[in-house]
Amino acid sequence: MVLDDIRLMPLQCPGCGKEINSKEEDCVYFCSECGKGFQIIENKFKKVDVIYAKPEIEISDKQLYYLPMWQLMTTISIKDKYTLEHKDIPEEILKNRQFTSLLTSLFKEKDARKKMIFFVPAFGVTNRYQLMDHPGFQFTVDPPRLKGGAPVDMIGAEYSLDDAKEIAKVMFLSIQAHTRSVILDADIDFEFRRYRIAGIPFFEEEGLLVDGIKGFRIFKDALKSWDEIKEGIRKGGK
Ligand SMILES: [Zn+2]
Repeated sequence: MVLDDIRLMPLQCPGCGKEINSKEEDCVYFCSECGKGFQIIENKFKKVDVIYAKPEIEISDKQLYYLPMWQLMTTISIKDKYTLEHKDIPEEILKNRQFTSLLTSLFKEKDARKKMIFFVPAFGVTNRYQLMDHPGFQFTVDPPRLKGGAPVDMIGAEYSLDDAKEIAKVMFLSIQAHTRSVILDADIDFEFRRYRIAGIPFFEEEGLLVDGIKGFRIFKDALKSWDEIKEGIRKGGK
């Protein structure tokens, strides 16, 4: 038996014993029965908190597909003061007043420490993910208050917590890079305090996938394996 054969074997939920279907690439698994999420670290199960978010927008009787996102509660600190005016900030961020003031005060105050919640896809994405609304970025700029519902079938996560932390930093640095101010050399410290997986409901509309929380859209081929996800969740029947 080679190692690949082991990876493809069905897993059993350590919480309730139900069989969990997994892909070879998965690094976090979710049980549709009891809702628990877990990572396997050094051959041991490590529990990951999961919230299965209830849709917030009108979805009528559409089929929902839950996709996992990391939600990282972070404290960002910057020691020095920098000049950052509203006019320096990219337009897509200026639309949100709260995030704009968070960003300006973070750079303009000395020894600034601010809380930020990053939303980072844990599902496998292609480079098409950045092209439409990019829900992870939109949720980070304007974090939704998620209400939890009953566990549902959800695909495994391909990006680990460590991947998510790196992606969050890159997301922040890309915001910084889009400003018209000289803050590129700022020494930024990220303290990731708490985390969980947020299962975000999506549905199909006009050839796109739309999130059921705020209605942001992604291309179907922004997901690495949309057809398999669709097929798998249908078979799961929940
Ligand atoms: Zn279970």
